[in-house]
Amino acid sequence: MKFKSAKINAFRTWGLLLTMLGMGLMILGTAGIVFWGPAGKVFAGIGLVIGLIAMVASMAIYFWAGMLSTSAVQVECPECHKFTKMLGKTDRCMFCHTILTLDPNQANITAEQLKQQQLNQN
Ligand SMILES: [Zn+2]
Repeated sequence: MKFKSAKINAFRTWGLLLTMLGMGLMILGTAGIVFWGPAGKVFAGIGLVIGLIAMVASMAIYFWAGMLSTSAVQVECPECHKFTKMLGKTDRCMFCHTILTLDPNQANITAEQLKQQQLNQN
């Protein structure tokens, strides 16, 4: 798992992890009935409830990420020249994880300077 990822991708990763966790708990809970018979029903109940909460939470995160991505700014990454979406003023490129910023005060290099650097290298 990458921690240095774009914010939207990070939300999706957490959403996916929660979905997997929820499904895992539901499967484990159901497996409890198979292995322990009636005694496993309590475990199954707990597993299903926690699993359901995790699934609902992951759906909320997915929904939130979807809402956020509609308001995200689409920019062309100066490093890999792919179109990526940014959340807030500073975010990482979804593809090459370069830190991008819309705030000129925080930028240590502008897109024009980077282009010039790449031209000089070639
Ligand atoms: Zn990039």
